[in-house]
Amino acid sequence: MTIRQDEAIILRTRDYGESDRLITFFSRNHGQLTGIAKGARRSKKRFVHTLEPLSYVLITYADRSSSGLVRIDASELKDGFIDIRNDVTRLGYASLSCEVVLEMSPERQANPHLFALLNQYLKQLEEKAEPEAPSFLFLVRVLSLSGYAPNLQTCLRCGRESTPGQGWFFSISQGGLLCENHRPGGKVYQVSLGTVMLLRQAQHLPLGKVWRLRFHRQSRDECRFLLLDLIRHHLEKDLKSLRLLHQIGALEANNSSAHP
Ligand SMILES: [Zn+2]
Repeated sequence: MTIRQDEAIILRTRDYGESDRLITFFSRNHGQLTGIAKGARRSKKRFVHTLEPLSYVLITYADRSSSGLVRIDASELKDGFIDIRNDVTRLGYASLSCEVVLEMSPERQANPHLFALLNQYLKQLEEKAEPEAPSFLFLVRVLSLSGYAPNLQTCLRCGRESTPGQGWFFSISQGGLLCENHRPGGKVYQVSLGTVMLLRQAQHLPLGKVWRLRFHRQSRDECRFLLLDLIRHHLEKDLKSLRLLHQIGALEANNSSAHP
């Protein structure tokens, strides 16, 4: 039995039996884990509301083997992201990010860069009112960190560089750009060179600097469904948290809160 302490972000919680809860969290040093929090339903005192989705915690857990559930012994809140919880739009985007990490990260596979990305993204949402542009930056980097980096350099077919004045298309099934001569059938998104350049910067800038990138209206319209579609393509299923974002109108084109 190994006792570990690690920083973690709570991704999902479920009731388990009469008094326990199952907690899935993404830890900085050991990746995604699911643990049982004994008595968490019966006694609120024990974990003092730290084991809630989104919470950034210092978690202590016992790991009996190299697979299966861990046993959560203690949890200390480092940031509860209260401002996000008080705003349904930002809560929708934050829930989406937790679901994406839950689905895209294999269990027990350390990915400290992904942990840092999720943590910084939630801090951005906590500090800023406008959630859509940071969500594009988050999604494109999650794809890269999960081994699905979209090809944004050259046409996948002929290798031509993306230059101004040409039509460019993004193929979801092929995961990259195609020039106007090689526009394929199937689902494609037309993208401007400005959007291509922005997404490239989003892939390659140091994490601390990426949040400064600004998306104008055209790039927002071009990115809104492209990145989500790419993630859905890799997961081969829909993301549940998109329902909330659709319900509140956050994903509609020309939505006023998305274009302050
Ligand atoms: Zn081409």
